Amino acid sequence: MLDCAIIGGGPAGLTAGLYTTRGGLENVTMFEKGMPGGQITLSSEIENYPGVTGEITGMDLMMPWPEQCQKFGLKHEMVEVIKVSKDGDIFTIHKGDGTTQEAHSVIVGTGSRPRRAGFAGEDEFFGRGVSTCATCDGFFYKGKEVAVIGGGDTALEEALYLAKICTKVYLIHRRDEFRSAPNTVDRLKRTENIELVLNSVPDEVYGDNMGVTGIRVKNKDGKLRDIEVPGVFTFVGNDVNNQTLMQENGEFLCDMNAKGEVIVNISMATSLEGLYATGDMRIAAPKQVVSAAGDGAVAALQVISFVDEKLNG
Ligand code: FAD
Repeated sequence: MLDCAIIGGGPAGLTAGLYTTRGGLENVTMFEKGMPGGQITLSSEIENYPGVTGEITGMDLMMPWPEQCQKFGLKHEMVEVIKVSKDGDIFTIHKGDGTTQEAHSVIVGTGSRPRRAGFAGEDEFFGRGVSTCATCDGFFYKGKEVAVIGGGDTALEEALYLAKICTKVYLIHRRDEFRSAPNTVDRLKRTENIELVLNSVPDEVYGDNMGVTGIRVKNKDGKLRDIEVPGVFTFVGNDVNNQTLMQENGEFLCDMNAKGEVIVNISMATSLEGLYATGDMRIAAPKQVVSAAGDGAVAALQVISFVDEKLNG
């Protein structure tokens, strides 16, 4: 029986592992289906993790984290978790290899994945000019022009964020109106360095071995337009990795919002006692390494008291 099972070995899961073990829990296992580190290991450069200066890749940043956790006794099982269930007071972790593991508490940190828009060149230039995170990559385009694809709240808010850093933002949207909050649309229309490219969809992003040099868009009449930009940001939705919380009856183990994000309180506690959710998968997540790590620490401190009370009264 584990004191705590941690699902996912990104910044949230690894920090939860560090704090639970260093805080005195002796029997903690982190279940991670691949190499620990999470999605930031896909990034070629990270500049906004506090205290880390100089050019550093996501992989460089995450490399020491597992070793630091193991020093305090965190165990790591490289296996996919299929489902987490709860019977009475006890959680069961159902693993991809067909075995199960019981635990007094669970911290889930399985992250999320931005949807791809599906145009030519998107995958080829992902991380080399095509991005899904303005907070992460916007600064690399300071003083330059960029394109933003999307028409929802996130796309508009990210376009406004980028307009403060970049000289010009082309907002490419397939319709001629936005579904976003009216005051966000007003702010967008009042921002002089945002050009709305409406009724248009991306046809292709192109570039050279240095990265993106432009995007070709097609309007509803089939007319093509080339926009020369070194950066293209796509915001066409985000899928939360919440499958482990789905039960056989089609319901989730705890309360979720309409987007499939886990509803938590400020202690990262879900609606189910003993279950905590952290990082990109929770409601209102800033989707940053530093906040995911913070969530992991918060959840771990709660778990230490929860397990202590459960076992020792
Ligand atoms: P993740 O990092 O997504 O980790 C989740 C982990 O869970 C993964 O390792 C996954 O393999 C594992 N997992 C999922 N399902 C299962 C399962 N069923 N069983 C077992 N394991 C499972 N943030 C910044 O702060 N600054 C940046 O500059 C920055 N740049 C980015 C650039 C790119 C290209 C990307 C993709 C992201 C970037 N981010 C950046 C965002 C940052 O990576 C995320 O906010 C952060 O990694 C979220 O951490 P997490 O632990 O919640 O989830």
